[in-house]
Parts: sequence; structure tokens; C-alpha cells
Amino acid sequence: MDIVNSQFVISAPNVNMCPSDNKPEFAFIGRSNVGKSSLINMLCNHKGLAKTSATPGKTLLVNHFIINKEWYLVDLPGYGYAKRSKKVQEQLDRMIRTYILQREQLVNLFVLIDIRHDPQKIDREFIDWLGLSQIPFSIIFTKADKLSGGRARANAKAWIDSLLDTWETPPPYFVTSSEAKTGRQEVLDYIDDILKK
Ligand code: GDP
Repeated sequence: MDIVNSQFVISAPNVNMCPSDNKPEFAFIGRSNVGKSSLINMLCNHKGLAKTSATPGKTLLVNHFIINKEWYLVDLPGYGYAKRSKKVQEQLDRMIRTYILQREQLVNLFVLIDIRHDPQKIDREFIDWLGLSQIPFSIIFTKADKLSGGRARANAKAWIDSLLDTWETPPPYFVTSSEAKTGRQEVLDYIDDILKK
């Protein structure tokens, strides 16, 4: 699959206000600065697409983009932002979790991880919660171009292996770079396979 058409549709403050036409949704989540907007733009081959919704205020919302008139790419606000007040982050966490648990259209959640970072508690807790909640998800490692040689793949593998203490079957994962435009086809093919099921 290629993405030939991508358009911003709506920023919804809660799940009830998300589109109601039942198209499948692929959502993206990650901590601030993980490279989520860059990845969305790279996947869609549409510079500035995710930025459209990244104006102040809208970052706390669930952003829907319609792709190839067929499915929604959903840009979720991140978990665990240090710069937000505890109250705002708690409200946000509730909204994110409600979307993830209740949104029947959600077919896969992509959790973004900066490939340079060692496993962090907040990501691990979130991933363990997804597992317990039986949410289908996969991991996208970002910024692979920042590591040279085989270090990107080695880091990704070590990160995934760190799950093996409690995870019997770790989630699928992808190594990407928005800068070098790598990993794009793998992610799009994965989405396509799910859409065809
Ligand atoms: P977001 O806050 O998760 O949406 O992150 P952004 O997409 O805005 O990216 C945060 C910063 O990381 C920006 O300075 C980007 O230029 C940089 N960045 C994002 N993706 C990549 C990548 O693949 N490679 C490199 N080298 N930098 C990246």
C-alpha cells in the first residue's frame, strides 16, 4: 500500500466527538518529542500534515486524518509529559485510556519509542497495561538515523528483549527514521495486511 491521499479531519476533545463512520483506525502515541509528527508526515508523504493539528491547544486532542479515503490515522496526545500539570496530565491519561479501551474502530495502536533511549518505566507500564487490556499494538522505534552502523537494530532488539521477563510473545516492532525515510514501507505494509484481514 502507498498513501496517496491524506487529509486532516477533526480534533476531538473526547471519544464521543470522534468520527462516527466506522472506518478502521490506526492510532499513534508516544512521549513528547519522540518524533510522532515527523513520523506521521513521513508515512503520509505530506510535509506539515501533523503540524496542522499541532497548534497550541490542539495537542491535547485526538486528531483524525483520513487516509486514502479508507482508514483513519489517529494522532493521540502523549502520556507522561513532564511539562504538564499533574491535573491536566491525569485528565489526558483518562481520555487516552478511554479512547484505547472503548474505541471499537481501533485496530492497532503504534507506540513510539526513541531508539536511543534505554527502556523507561513509563513506557513499560503503558505497554504492560496495553497487554493486560488486550489491545492490539506494535512498537515503532524512531530516529534510527541518530545511531550509526548496526546500533539502531541492536538497540531495538535489546529493548524488545527487555520485555521478555514477563512477555511471552513480544509485540511486532519497526525501526524507522523520518529523517532518512526508512521503515516507511514496512509500516504501511503492516497496516495493509491488517486492513485486508
Ligand atoms: P513529536 O513531539 O513527537 O511530534 O516530535 P517531532 O516530530 O516534532 O520531533 C521532535 C524532534 O525530533 C524534532 O526536532 C525533529 O526534527 C526530530 N526528529 C523527529 N524524527 C526524527 C528522525 O527520524 N531523525 C532525526 N535525526 N530527528 C528526528
